[in-house]
Amino acid sequence: MDHFDYRDGVMHAEDVPLSRIAEAVGTPVYVYSTATIERHVRVFREAVAEAGTGEPLIAFAVKANPNLAVLATLARAGLGADVVSGGELLRARAAGVPADRIVFSGVGKTADEMALALREGIGQFNLESEPEAEMLSAVAVSMGVRAPVAFRVNPNVDAGTHAKISTGKSEDKFGIAYDGAVAAYARARDLAGLHIRGVAVHIGSQLTDLAPSRAAFAKIGDLIGALRASGHDIATADLGGGLGVPYDPALPTPPLPAAYGAMVREVTAGWGVRLIFEPGRVIVGNAGILLTSVIRVKPGVTNPFVVVDAAMNDLLRPSLYDAWHDIRAVVPRGDRFTAHIVGPICESGDTFARNRGMDRVEPGDAVCFMTAGAYGATMASTYNSRALTPEVLVNGREWSIVRARQPIEALIAADSLPSWLPANPDRSAMEIA
Ligand SMILES: *Cc1c(COP(=O)(O)O)cnc(C)c1O
Repeated sequence: MDHFDYRDGVMHAEDVPLSRIAEAVGTPVYVYSTATIERHVRVFREAVAEAGTGEPLIAFAVKANPNLAVLATLARAGLGADVVSGGELLRARAAGVPADRIVFSGVGKTADEMALALREGIGQFNLESEPEAEMLSAVAVSMGVRAPVAFRVNPNVDAGTHAKISTGKSEDKFGIAYDGAVAAYARARDLAGLHIRGVAVHIGSQLTDLAPSRAAFAKIGDLIGALRASGHDIATADLGGGLGVPYDPALPTPPLPAAYGAMVREVTAGWGVRLIFEPGRVIVGNAGILLTSVIRVKPGVTNPFVVVDAAMNDLLRPSLYDAWHDIRAVVPRGDRFTAHIVGPICESGDTFARNRGMDRVEPGDAVCFMTAGAYGATMASTYNSRALTPEVLVNGREWSIVRARQPIEALIAADSLPSWLPANPDRSAMEIA
């Protein structure tokens, strides 16, 4: 459920008409809803509250939406953070996430990132390989501390999601092999800089069926038993993220957090560990839209092309994952047509939808791509020298720009000319006004 609804024929974000934001900020612009974010936190928290021992740690996967204001909203609601880079760690800390609620995931943590995380005093490192364990131990020893760790275990289950966001098959780059896990833990016990706390698993994203997660968690339960039998003290189990959200209303709704929570309670009963969750998409996916404007409607051989001012650099998901986003006019004209929706970028991949039945639109009309709060702005680039999209956060009647539109002059000014090229007298024309 979200807080993007039509009132008096105009799509609103909470109490704010999107037409007002489009006018004031220009398009394209991402718009997020505080009430929707907070509602999703509440629903997820209630769903998993009774699972594991003590209160579970809900560590928001920062990569889904790293905007500082979004993270601060989540930090205020008591969430931790799952980070995959030093940059995300610093963002989470800047947004007010306490260090002990931060989990560090990822296959390529560098020694510098490890040292940063140890200085900050994060809650847990999820290690993805034995060489990584050795490097972290060495960094921790050099700093005179012990790093709290879990191994991310690859359970070799098929998550049944898009190949680019499936992470739990043995051929994927993630985690240590399930069959070698007991041996890896035994070797890690001898590393002086590590303090083994638990186990971790994450099989993929946009999961629309609970069966693969259930199978993976059951294997983790068996592993916890085997590790304890070998004398390890296992206090935490990190079950990752991945719960899907509805994008296409014509498809079955993915399992709700309540069903996920019930499955987790059932599978993890008797584990005697504190559970950690790393939800990203399910918290912010429906809490954001990409607001764009129609530049022109170009006749096509079959259906017309609706050319909008957003492009694949702003919202990559359709181009990268063949993702489906619902498309709605901010002020519907009352009739519908079938069209292709495309951006201005010089690639055929810059296509948001083909042969889509949608509100009929005309040049100048504002249009929304729904469910763009996760893996939207965060994946944006400046391809075609397009500035990064601004972001707005709505809170009831209030709204605020939480990332300003990047001036194109700033983008150009970031480049510099080497000494062997002549200074361009016209460059002054490019200086920031
Ligand atoms: C991306 C990721 C998540 C979040 O996935 P969602 O599908 O957004 O919930 C959680 N944990 C890890 C390790 C990830 O890489």
